[in-house]
Amino acid sequence: MTQRTRVVVVGGGHNGLAAAAYLAQAGIDVVVLEALGEVGGAAVSAQVFPGVNARLSRYSYLVSLLPRQIISELGLSLDLRSRSVASYTPVVRGGTDTGLLVERTPGGVTEESFRAVTGGPRDYSSWQDFYDRMERAAGVIAPTMLSPLLTSQDMAERVIAAAGAQTWAEIAQVPMGETLMSAFGDDDVRGVIATDGLIGTYASVFDQSLLANRCLLYHLIGDGTGEWKVPVGGMGAVSTALRLAAESAGARIVTNAQALKVETDGAQALVTYRDDHDSEQCIAAEWVLSNAAPDTLERLLGRQPSTSPQGSQVKVNMVLTRLPRLRSGIDPRIAFAGTFHISESLAEVEDAFAATVRGEFPEPLPAEIYCHTLTDSSILSGDLIDAGWHTMTLFGLHTPAHLFDSESSQRQRQQVLDSYLDGLDRFLAEPIRECLAIDANGEMCAEARTPLDIEASVGLPGGHIFHRDLRWPWSPSGNADPDSVPGAWGVETQDPNVLVCGAGARRGGGVSAVPGRAAAMKVISTQG
Ligand SMILES: Cc1cc2nc3c(=O)[nH]c(=O)nc-3n(C[C@H](O)[C@H](O)[C@H](O)COP(=O)(O)OP(=O)(O)OC[C@H]3O[C@@H](n4cnc5c(N)ncnc54)[C@H](O)[C@@H]3O)c2cc1C
Repeated sequence: MTQRTRVVVVGGGHNGLAAAAYLAQAGIDVVVLEALGEVGGAAVSAQVFPGVNARLSRYSYLVSLLPRQIISELGLSLDLRSRSVASYTPVVRGGTDTGLLVERTPGGVTEESFRAVTGGPRDYSSWQDFYDRMERAAGVIAPTMLSPLLTSQDMAERVIAAAGAQTWAEIAQVPMGETLMSAFGDDDVRGVIATDGLIGTYASVFDQSLLANRCLLYHLIGDGTGEWKVPVGGMGAVSTALRLAAESAGARIVTNAQALKVETDGAQALVTYRDDHDSEQCIAAEWVLSNAAPDTLERLLGRQPSTSPQGSQVKVNMVLTRLPRLRSGIDPRIAFAGTFHISESLAEVEDAFAATVRGEFPEPLPAEIYCHTLTDSSILSGDLIDAGWHTMTLFGLHTPAHLFDSESSQRQRQQVLDSYLDGLDRFLAEPIRECLAIDANGEMCAEARTPLDIEASVGLPGGHIFHRDLRWPWSPSGNADPDSVPGAWGVETQDPNVLVCGAGARRGGGVSAVPGRAAAMKVISTQG
């Protein structure tokens, strides 16, 4: 028997849950079909290591792009906590181990650190100027994320009025590599900025496609400040809050329900899915919102996908019995409190990209490391907190899906894990392996997840963390995209009653709930 509802959301990632919450709060009947046994998609927490009571943010881990307005509109109970430090980059200068420390709000300590590492005042003053202008741009771009798309002309005018023409050019016209080369003298300083353009983004920072610029822009505009915060309780707490908001407003969420087919005539749609008893069910609706990636949606609609996304990162989750001491002598509770960069000077990330284009694994592998328990220990059990244990997360850049082979994945996983641990050891006064906890099976608490693993476990095509390459958060005027018409929300597809409500929407990517809200607003705005 065919069930009926107004809206079917395919996928219960955090965006699908946000869309369902907005629709249900507006009194619209909505059913969410989630293929997996739990909701949250790539925004989940899990106990990864047997016998070790630590709930890790298994995939995504920091929040910046989720606007306060969404938290308040949906009444989400969430605590997003500031980290005490923005970043630390261990470097060697004149044969001595030292490091570049950037405070959350850069002040005297940051200035002194820049002077010591770069040998003069220039880079710190360029840093202040760059981030000051970008913050002014973020102040005008961020609020537009919650309205229909602006044209690029309108956006340019707003940014130029707030932050000047140079800032607009650096955002949207000049490859970020060129900006970094002309504004900064130190290659490690350049790299700290460059890596924010390369998270989950497989590109050279000099590429004329400006893919890295787009990623940097998303990195800097979150909620108007660009600050990346730790969700207390882990990323699972974000999805749980959204699930509760959707359910309490009356949305029906069905897990173990994989959509197999979507048929539409533009006004009515039929979604076929497999339920938890392995039988096929049908549900008719006026609207289908796809939280699944655009590629997956194309397949569900019986079409050949036009792109083939490729993830470019490895995620390593670890649990430590203690924080390792550093060669530079800095307190590890300071060094690991923010983003800890290894092998991420501009030259190193560009060399790494070039190696992958040749089909080789980079050596060394660029990565950044985070210790969330320095900001939020609640993800550990009380006895592990008392014993001084910590979690550690590593996000590796430029390890694209094409380097991995499903046949030899276990060997390759071990190989990259060893490379990352060796790469970190270069800056430590004691081997990281001696600090890793041992789980109930006698194994080291360190798991590496390749793009292929991420595709297999949460369905991100090619393991691409944003479902596809990021796009500019304004209207693509002058082309034939379905979201180039005035008033579009960036969620439209060629089928009028099928919308994208996940990371693959125009203003998608990351844990933001922005595309989920945009798709819901599109539906709500067409109500008679
Ligand atoms: C390793 C890693 C680290 C990251 N770090 C961060 C970070 O720190 N901060 C940040 O902001 N972002 C981060 N990201 C990106 C961020 O997690 C994603 O962009 C975001 O979670 C996407 O959310 P979504 O709801 O749009 O889609 P998803 O989380 O991908 O959810 C889609 C859901 O749809 C379901 N689905 C797919 N196909 C079907 C089907 N046919 N039928 C039913 N259900 C289906 C899937 O099972 C899934 O639950 C990271 C991602 C990864 C992988």
